[in-house]
Amino acid sequence: MPKIQGHCLCGQVRYSSSQDEPAMIAVCHCPDCQRQSGSAFSTNVLVPTDSITFEGESRSQFVINGASGQKVIRNFCSNCGSPLTTELPAFDNLAAVKAGTLEDSSWVTPTIQIWCDTAKTWSVLDESIDKTATNPG
Ligand SMILES: [Zn+2]
Ligand SMILES: [Zn+2]
Repeated sequence: MPKIQGHCLCGQVRYSSSQDEPAMIAVCHCPDCQRQSGSAFSTNVLVPTDSITFEGESRSQFVINGASGQKVIRNFCSNCGSPLTTELPAFDNLAAVKAGTLEDSSWVTPTIQIWCDTAKTWSVLDESIDKTATNPG
C-alpha cells in the first residue's frame, strides 16, 4: 500500500503518490490556505507533482496566481468540497498533499512552519521547528 494516499470526504476522489518519502512536511499559514481550509493553516506533505495519480470524476481544479506570480493549482472534490493537493510549479514542481486527507497520517510530523507573518492570532505555533515569514527561501 502506498504510504501517501488518501481520499476526499465523500470518497469519490482518491489519490496516491509513488513516492514514500516527502521532500518536506510544512504547516502553511498563508491567507489562501486559511481560506481554502476554513481553518488557521494547512498541513502539507510535499512530493513531486508527477508522482501523484488521481481517480474520480469529481476532481476539479482551482487555479490562482501565487506570491511568486506563477500558477498555484488546487485540486479538490467538486462533490464534497474537500481540498486534496496543491500543485506548486514555482516550488520545484512539488505538490502539497493535504495531510488531513491521508488514509494514515499518524507518521506526519511537520518540520517547518511557513507564512508565519500571516498566522492567525488564535493559532498556537510550535516554537520548536523552523519558521519562515513567507515562502521558504
Ligand atoms: Zn468528495
Ligand atoms: Zn499556504
